This record gives sequence, C-alpha cells and structure tokens, in this order.
Amino acid sequence: MDPMERLTSGFQRFKKEVYEKNAALFTQLADGQSPKFMVFACADSRVCPSVVLDFQPGEAFTVRNIANMVPPYDQGTTALTHSMQETCSPFECLQTRYSGVGAAIEYAVLHLKVENIVVIGHSRCGGIKGLMSIKEDGTRSSAFIEDWVKVCLPALEKVKANHSALPFEDQCTHCEKEAVNVSLHNLKTYPFVRDGLEKKTLKLIGAHYNFVVGSFDIWKI
Ligand SMILES: [Zn+2]
Repeated sequence: MDPMERLTSGFQRFKKEVYEKNAALFTQLADGQSPKFMVFACADSRVCPSVVLDFQPGEAFTVRNIANMVPPYDQGTTALTHSMQETCSPFECLQTRYSGVGAAIEYAVLHLKVENIVVIGHSRCGGIKGLMSIKEDGTRSSAFIEDWVKVCLPALEKVKANHSALPFEDQCTHCEKEAVNVSLHNLKTYPFVRDGLEKKTLKLIGAHYNFVVGSFDIWKI
C-alpha cells in the first residue's frame, strides 16, 4: 500500500472509531494530561504497549527505545552544566548524559507525578540479542546499537555467569528479564525517583511480554 494512503486511512479509521466516539475524553485531554503510568517499552513494532495493555489516550507516558532500557542517572550531568567558556567534547557529553531518557523521567515524575514506572521487556528482542552478541575482543559491528545496549551490560554478565550452559535463545530470554531488572535498578539512581519511592508516591514495576505464547509476566521490586 502507498504509505501516504496508509497513514491517511489509518487516521480516518481512528477518528471515526475512537476520536469521535470519545469526544468528552479528548475535550478533557485538551486541558492537560495526568497519566498514572510511565512506561518503558521496546521500539519493536510487535510490542506497542498501548495495544498490548489497552492504554487509552492520557493513560501512559511512554518512552520507547531499543530494548526498553533505562540508563543510570549520571552524576556527571550536574558537572556538565558548565559555562559556555569551558571546553567540553560534545561527543563525551552525548555519551554520558542520556538526556533524552533523563528528561522524560524528570518530566514524568516531577511534573506529571506519575504513580508507577513500568519497564516492559519482551520475547525475541533484537536489542537484547545484540547485547548478548557483543564481542569480548571489542570488535564492533554497529555505529550506535552496541553502545546503547551496553546500558544493560550487568544483565549480560549475570546471564553468562548463571546460564552459560543454556542454548543462546534461552540465554536471551533470561537476559530480556534481567535487563528489565537492571533498568529498574538504574531508575533508583535518579534522585527524584528515589524520593518518590521513599515517600511511597511512586512504584517501580517490571514486566515481560511474550508475544510468541501470548503471556505477560509482571513483578514489583
Ligand atoms: Zn526489543
């Protein structure tokens, strides 16, 4: 199908079936959003959280990236608010700040006051397969992907230590879940997340969606 036609007809269907049938909801959303959930999901086209969890507009503030990863808060972030005169390699800044994810968490927690942050891993995740395939000799096979998925290197190390006898595909399944735990741990390194957990205004939830068998596992930490 022509892509322009696909986009136009898709929106027409949404407008008729969803938008026009929920006029009150969209009027309310025009005034603002107060989602209860912040969701981290993979960019994979098979795992859209709004489809899988039936989230309605306004319900989930969502970040999607390769392998649904949350990098740790970097103390360097504050140090990087240096004056313009100071020299700084933009490449280094980009590598250490992960400001796209940090900005989303900050906005969701401090401004939207979400009550839950959910990290959802999934079956057959290409990003996790990429993490599990990183060469120990440092040989690279991607411009960006390996650098990004290394965020969850501790998951790789745990799986290699505990499940190295399993077939590669099963190791990847373990890693999909361990990577969620690494991301949940990393979330706790953000001061405003820690603060929300201490005040009990915020909960962290891990999940794994298996679209091969159609199951959804969920756990709290
Ligand atoms: Zn994925």
